[in-house]
Amino acid sequence: MPWTQLASAVAVSDADNDPLARRDQPEASHPYRAPFVRDCGRILHARAFRRLAGKTQVFTRSAAESDHTRSRLTHTLEVAQIARTIAAALGLNAHLAETLALVHDIGHPPFGHAGERALDAALIQHGMRFDHNLHALRIVTSFEERNAGFRGLNLTLGVREGIIKHSRDYSAAEHPELAAYFLDRLPPIEAQLIDLADEIAYLTADLEDGLEARILRLEMARAEVPCLDRAFEQAAQRHPHAAERLLRNDALKMILNRLVTDLMCEVSRRVKANGIETLAEVRAARERLAAFSEERQVDRDSLRRFLYRNLYESAELEAEHQRAGEIISTLFAYWVEDPRRLPADHAARAEDEGAARAVTDYIAGMTDSYIEQAWSRFLETERH
Ligand code: MG
Repeated sequence: MPWTQLASAVAVSDADNDPLARRDQPEASHPYRAPFVRDCGRILHARAFRRLAGKTQVFTRSAAESDHTRSRLTHTLEVAQIARTIAAALGLNAHLAETLALVHDIGHPPFGHAGERALDAALIQHGMRFDHNLHALRIVTSFEERNAGFRGLNLTLGVREGIIKHSRDYSAAEHPELAAYFLDRLPPIEAQLIDLADEIAYLTADLEDGLEARILRLEMARAEVPCLDRAFEQAAQRHPHAAERLLRNDALKMILNRLVTDLMCEVSRRVKANGIETLAEVRAARERLAAFSEERQVDRDSLRRFLYRNLYESAELEAEHQRAGEIISTLFAYWVEDPRRLPADHAARAEDEGAARAVTDYIAGMTDSYIEQAWSRFLETERH
């Protein structure tokens, strides 16, 4: 089945008076910018967004080795491009999808997923968990200070809901503080898309970066990922004399395009199969409507399995992950032991909210290079 434009009532509205355009601090409407366009600008101009440039996507300390490896910022821009394309083609709210993509990784700590795991492990000892979606919500509602009248970015309800619900569901019993975000209902399709746009972006990009870094070998990837092998063969038939690297790039583009088109077709199919014509019906649906078809799910699974085994959990990256974990857990313990070692504003927050929470927020906001500097100072202090 091909993809089709969805009924306009399925999309989130761009109207200023839409309930999802509501902000905690009332603001006058803008003469020529829709609510989610304004939120997009606020995120692009946020300090936490700029820090994504200094945060690991997959390769910790890779900057020294290659200028072409993705950072969390360039990954984010790739997700935004994919999400905007899909939303526009389906007749959904492309402004909202783009905004949610731009903000989707803003809550990530330094050192990629190794950093996230270490921070979570440290917090568990204090009876809490680290969750990058909830951290992102704290950033946009509290930590960003850009306005004289209030803390945070005063984003619309639609964007805040999408920040927490784009990748997982939260139960109202466990998270009473999130009651305003319709926890018993699914998010709009614009938010549901983000997790899959994220996957499409990172699965193809990490494969490219892994091959460029020579951690992955093309022969092995082709042997274990059938969709890559088929796409490479097609590219090679079209351009029999082209260099392997260029054929590989063509193959990766084909995979990316197929996953995007498949996602669009599957959303169309599910919307139709469930007789959905309004946003309210999207929210009440039995299952998420954004998904890959079963056939492409197989491709996605094999690609994912290959990357986990040979890249994310590879021996080559393991030493970096261990070091990242050691830095985060050591600094965490050092600051929690005596929060007066923190900068004054974070030390003050430790008094109000507890040391573990304040230290987590401090660490989670750091770029890779910032925590490296903190680590050097710590080692220096220990030596004396
Ligand atoms: Mg991401």
